[in-house]
Amino acid sequence: MATLQHVCSAPLARAMRSGAAAIVASPTVRSSLPHSAESRVLLGLAEPELRQLAIDFGQQSYRGKQLHDLLYKTKAKEIQDFSHLPQAFRDELREAGWRVGRSPVHRAVTAADGTIKMLIKLEDNRLIETVGIPVEDDKGSFRLTACVSSQVGCPLRCSFCATGKGGYSRNLQPHEIVGQVLAIEEIFKHRVTNVVFMGMGEPMLNLKSVLEAHRCLNKDVKIGQRMMTISTVGVPNTIKILAAHKLQSTLAVSLHAPNQKLRETIVPSAKSYPLDALMADCMDYFLQTGRRVSFEYTLLAGINDGSEHAVALAEMLHRCGHGYHVNLIPYNPIEGSEYRRPYKKAVNYTCVTLIIISQLFLINTALTLIMSIMLDLDLSLS
Ligand code: SF4
Repeated sequence: MATLQHVCSAPLARAMRSGAAAIVASPTVRSSLPHSAESRVLLGLAEPELRQLAIDFGQQSYRGKQLHDLLYKTKAKEIQDFSHLPQAFRDELREAGWRVGRSPVHRAVTAADGTIKMLIKLEDNRLIETVGIPVEDDKGSFRLTACVSSQVGCPLRCSFCATGKGGYSRNLQPHEIVGQVLAIEEIFKHRVTNVVFMGMGEPMLNLKSVLEAHRCLNKDVKIGQRMMTISTVGVPNTIKILAAHKLQSTLAVSLHAPNQKLRETIVPSAKSYPLDALMADCMDYFLQTGRRVSFEYTLLAGINDGSEHAVALAEMLHRCGHGYHVNLIPYNPIEGSEYRRPYKKAVNYTCVTLIIISQLFLINTALTLIMSIMLDLDLSLS
């Protein structure tokens, strides 16, 4: 999902600042971590599971509640740091192979506006990107958005995306996703208020872990479902699965083109997921959850930023008949990219065209536009 060009790089920061706020599972792609290593991780477990674990170790149930607090409130990184627990219990947990499951921050870069981009080093030494985006609005209320990765790399290879060009290694485990949010809370010394699954990877290709992480972030880390956004470029048969969970979270779909032919050139995986079917699944998501779908549209100079594209986009959304958010994101060029950032004039023209046409449609529909204007941010960690 990198509008990192899915969107956590510069474009996401923009989207978040504008108040705009994008996923399901690949049963076929599995983590390369050994099963035993996965199953002895405390992070990601719910309080009832931790209470049961304590009982399994001959402790009283309330020790499980203490474990829960240590993981999600104190944010302890090692079992030896569980100072509230008896030493013997800590030793037994470690001897049985249990670990917390937090991964260290390898490197962090802070932008002038306070956004922090981090590289987190996983147990197998692979690196993932995580971005923390602080925003203070006009009324003085503070939001801290965590843009989290769901995969190491990405197999979908969208033509404009740096992550896609870097190849794919593996899916992330739930605790590796949750750990990103805790790392952001730690570095900002502030609670994360919003989570967007828009970092490295396509969340719908790792839906099982994404859903488990979503549960943990909601129930254990206490981030509201409405404060979370799951993003996708579209993976067949996954939006329906996500919709069936009836989460109160936003689905953000990276469109980037108003017709199938153009979309296939920008998002190669779209060949297996016709735009009509994708839009039908988005409508289904809205009907199942009552949550409007947010559409991401990266403007690429001379490719999809013409007035005819704006007209076609508005018409397509109008045909779907429900309210939407549209985030227009001027492209932030990456090294070696065939695409260019659109001129401001072209961006403005597209915005105006979309607004005028949408207002015409607003007579009978509830189309909402949110324009997210991207700023230049260089947070390259390479
Ligand atoms: S290549 Fe992957 S990470 Fe990049 S935009 Fe496409 S789905 Fe997102």
